[in-house]
Amino acid sequence: MSSAINKENSKMSVDSEREPLLRVRDLKKYFPIHKGILGRHVGDVKAVDGISFDIYPNETLGMVGESGCGKTTAGRTILRLLEPTSGKVYFRDDSIYDLKTEQMRALRRQMQIIFQDPFSSLNPRMTVESIIGEAIEFHGIAKGEERRSIVESLLERVGLQPSYVTRYPHEFSGGQRQRIGIARALALNPDFIVCDEAVSALDVSVQAQVINLLQDLQEEYNLSYLFIAHDLSVVKHISDRIAVMYLGRVVELATTEELFERPLHPYTQALLSAIPTPNPSKKKSRVILKGDVPSPINPPSGCTFHTRCPARFGPCSTVVPRSIEAEPGHFVRCHLYDPEYTTTDPEVWNRLPIPPVDDLPIPKHPDPEPDAGEDATIAKDVEPSETADVEKSAPDEDPKVGAIPAADDTKTGLEGSALQGPADGITPSESAPEE
Ligand code: SF4
Repeated sequence: MSSAINKENSKMSVDSEREPLLRVRDLKKYFPIHKGILGRHVGDVKAVDGISFDIYPNETLGMVGESGCGKTTAGRTILRLLEPTSGKVYFRDDSIYDLKTEQMRALRRQMQIIFQDPFSSLNPRMTVESIIGEAIEFHGIAKGEERRSIVESLLERVGLQPSYVTRYPHEFSGGQRQRIGIARALALNPDFIVCDEAVSALDVSVQAQVINLLQDLQEEYNLSYLFIAHDLSVVKHISDRIAVMYLGRVVELATTEELFERPLHPYTQALLSAIPTPNPSKKKSRVILKGDVPSPINPPSGCTFHTRCPARFGPCSTVVPRSIEAEPGHFVRCHLYDPEYTTTDPEVWNRLPIPPVDDLPIPKHPDPEPDAGEDATIAKDVEPSETADVEKSAPDEDPKVGAIPAADDTKTGLEGSALQGPADGITPSESAPEE
């Protein structure tokens, strides 16, 4: 972590030489809450709360996170289907929120979306030719016979019979409908497509076909995708890089390989540990998060993950984590990797509930205690059923946990900040003062 570079408010990217196709900067989308007959503004749903990243030509950026974390809102705001609360999105050199209606209409040819639900996203009263051909005619590309022949060739390209042009959506299966949705997105020959949970509603075998189709089309048309999904296995298969979202913020961004090999953020570690393995007899480490996802109306202060984080410590509940480039191209928003809060104090690291200490890419103290690993909340190489037991005996039971000052507390300026174990099981007298 000595190489950690503070990249606060900078782009989260891996490639400084290539020109990004799309740049997202500190994008926020709040939905106002009004109450009373006067419609008083009483608060906001902070669906997207300051995200920044780049997408390069011919690249797929996967976006994952729990339901309600703001993935879909982010995708729609990037396409300006929703107006942002603040922030910027640049498509090549165009700042899309500054474009006038006519300019935006022209840009829409280059930015398309594939919707999640193949059943509700197609108008049941329109034929396939109308569904796919509508935009072709609207943008003045072709009409009549010429339009039909373009639609037929698009259908063929997505693996459907050209003769289906006269059919209606109800005559197709879910996978076929999604192919129609893909053909519609391709109709204007775009450069960038937001795939919003594009395969989530499909059977696994059909998912594989659609994903392979998306990959073939990317190769053929040099497309860039923002691939939004909650299934990490699917995202792993298709993505070049992955952004992990939690409560409206990107908490980690890295190449797919790096993220799966060395997840840094405790939330990412928990997500990855939940992926089922094909072999049930294979032992796997699991991190079980406690508590519910907080409301985006009133998100927790500091790090929004601190109410569920097994590794939280002093500054977590008060200081918003910065974006840190922990490794080249690997960005994380977590105080554990922020040089300002990083400590080499053995007392602190021995009691972090998310070792295995050896697995963390952070400076290890010079002389670890022999039984340091016993305090881990992550149960390494145990059956899932054993995990619960390990969790119960995790640092909560150590009377000293919650009373160890973080070494760099003086730098944070926080009075009485302390390393805390999981909240459950800690009595007020054992734990740090309420934050
Ligand atoms: Fe957030 Fe702190 Fe946990 Fe990092 S250690 S994820 S900053 S609560």
